Amino acid sequence: MPELPEVETVRNSLKEIILNKRIKDVVVRYDKIIENVSVDDFINKLKGQKIVDIKRKGKYLIFVLNDYYLVSHLRMEGKFFDYTDFDYGKHDHIIFIFDDFNLRYNDTRKFGRMDLFDKSVDIYKCKPLVSVGPDANCDEASVEYLESKFKKINKPIKETLLDQSIMSGLGNIYVDEVLFMAHLHPESKTCNLDLDDIKNIKEAATIVLNKAITMGGTTIKSFAASHNHTGLFQNELLVHTKETCPICKSKIEKIRVGGRGTYFCSNCQKIK
Ligand SMILES: [Zn+2]
Repeated sequence: MPELPEVETVRNSLKEIILNKRIKDVVVRYDKIIENVSVDDFINKLKGQKIVDIKRKGKYLIFVLNDYYLVSHLRMEGKFFDYTDFDYGKHDHIIFIFDDFNLRYNDTRKFGRMDLFDKSVDIYKCKPLVSVGPDANCDEASVEYLESKFKKINKPIKETLLDQSIMSGLGNIYVDEVLFMAHLHPESKTCNLDLDDIKNIKEAATIVLNKAITMGGTTIKSFAASHNHTGLFQNELLVHTKETCPICKSKIEKIRVGGRGTYFCSNCQKIK
């Protein structure tokens, strides 16, 4: 699944391709990707619209058009590719046709979704964006904010950090890295963490996310920002998928927390 840094890479790649370009036509080959409007509405409203900007909230891409916002989530396998031919592949589900190329939303798993809103709508107060927390590396996700949320949560900290409604941007790989850097066992109870733990989490989350964004994300399994981009962050991982702790040389343990494969060092990461 693409995580926030990968989505940021996709956003930057897409800006190079479609910014200030006008959509001539749209082809929808799999209806269910369009969430909140009919397929006819989707096509008719998008025709003639120019891509004014591309923003992001958490893992959602927000295409700012003349009159609309198109909100897109790639989920497991969604990707955008640009082509100059019209030889559509089996997994090209939505095609945005521009003057001299077409942009294809490709999704082998078909889990990705798109929502279209009028510009008059405050999209941050509507589904799906209303339940997206602030990016982990931004000021809004402050230590005070996290403290107020964490003290009410009885779950393992790993699950809390994966909950994108509290804080956005930390997927499974990044949470393992953050907890390793903060010296916290992934099964520590969220409400047991003290202020120093929360400061350590905030600091580690900011470092990990900023670094991952700079390096273009992590390429594990299948992710491509566009044709030839691959992320480099996997070369920087300290604990996720590793066998030996880089600090104490103990064997890295693998357990499941909240159903997710979790790597940690039982010597360096203390349970709270
Ligand atoms: Zn260790």
